[in-house]
Amino acid sequence: MNKPIKQHLIDPEICIRCYTCEMTCPEQAIEHDDNNVVVNADLCNFCMDCIPVCPTGSIDEWRVVTEPYSLEQQYEWEELPEQEDLGSDDADTGIEALDDAMAALLADAHKGAGGKSKAPATASKPTINLYNLGKPVQAVVQGNYRLTEASSDSDVRHIILDFQGRPMPVLEGQSIGIIAPGTTDEGQPHLPRLYSVSSPRDGERPGFNNVSLTVKREEGGVCSNYVCDLQKGDTVNVTGPFGSTFLLPDDPDARILMICTGTGSAPMRAFTMRRQRKVGTIHGGMTMFFGARTPDSLPYFGPLQKVPKTLLDQHLVFSRQEGQDKEYVQDRMLAKRDIVADLLQDPNSYVYICGLRDMEDGVEQALTEIAAGVGQDWTALRDQMRDAGRYHVETY
Ligand code: FAD
Repeated sequence: MNKPIKQHLIDPEICIRCYTCEMTCPEQAIEHDDNNVVVNADLCNFCMDCIPVCPTGSIDEWRVVTEPYSLEQQYEWEELPEQEDLGSDDADTGIEALDDAMAALLADAHKGAGGKSKAPATASKPTINLYNLGKPVQAVVQGNYRLTEASSDSDVRHIILDFQGRPMPVLEGQSIGIIAPGTTDEGQPHLPRLYSVSSPRDGERPGFNNVSLTVKREEGGVCSNYVCDLQKGDTVNVTGPFGSTFLLPDDPDARILMICTGTGSAPMRAFTMRRQRKVGTIHGGMTMFFGARTPDSLPYFGPLQKVPKTLLDQHLVFSRQEGQDKEYVQDRMLAKRDIVADLLQDPNSYVYICGLRDMEDGVEQALTEIAAGVGQDWTALRDQMRDAGRYHVETY
């Protein structure tokens, strides 16, 4: 089998054929016929000049392939092909069962949505299961920074992994698996643990092949302690990417409501950075309710202070702030019910909930009350939103 390579492609379903990318490409790698705009894999050098000029985001598509799609094949497409499963030749080692185990973990994490989740209709098509336990990819640790104050008993880290030119095509909202070294008490390799990516698809640093994670040290936890103790230069075995529904719509006008606690902020950071890089800070349309015990223990508290209000309407909520009443995300949602109700009634709004499982009940109750206040039955509205790819829950 040929070595897998990353190929730049254009989504024919979303492309409006304005040819701006073709005019911008310094390598003349983009061309078109009456049907499609296509990318010549022999000429594209991933300079990324075409990405910001595309008005629809259809240019930002990638597949990892063993044999690049030819121009002739791309001209024929009505839609992008799915990511080919490069790991399927491992079936006889039981690896497929492990991919199923990762899928089951994700399905369990998404069950708070009340039914089968769907991706937003305009979301980019995700690559999944590119690497697995039998065939992981190695990343090198570029950085490990504590996000919470030393005074806080919660140790949450911002970890940056560099894939050194190996493909790791992640979308915001997806997770990757980390394999801790060593074996279980039964002598088996540790199963990968899932961690949401907290950087946008073009990398923690734009154009660099790196991915960031937001990991909380769990007392006695195998993988979280391994990750939180990683040093710059260490190598890590990674699987994934995983997840094909908790994704951002590719629509700059879509309004995004993000509700999170703790490390549930990871995908929200990725979403916010993606929007900021794609449409700038002026547009806005993002609202976040983010809960922690104290500012010291809220991941990214410092960096969040610098995010322009025009981009992100932030509601940071604390349950153990000295001298203040306990407040949870659902309390603030109720206090700001007009904002939430307005979003729930807008057909172009998308809701994302992420964090520890115990946040679900309170948030669900608040949404029920807020929806009732505007004459809506929450369960019916939720199911309708979920079926339209507009309601997403990921709790663990
Ligand atoms: P494990 O070793 O799996 O142990 C889990 C807990 O059980 C620990 O508290 C441990 O002390 C306890 N335990 C283990 N063995 C025993 C025993 N024998 N008796 C009693 N207690 C025991 N986490 C993040 O930090 N950031 C993220 O972005 C993130 N994203 C996720 C996304 C998804 C979709 C999912 C499903 C999970 C995500 N997680 C995330 C959680 C993460 O995958 C791990 O579950 C978490 O880091 C704990 O893994 P661990 O190996 O450290 O703990």
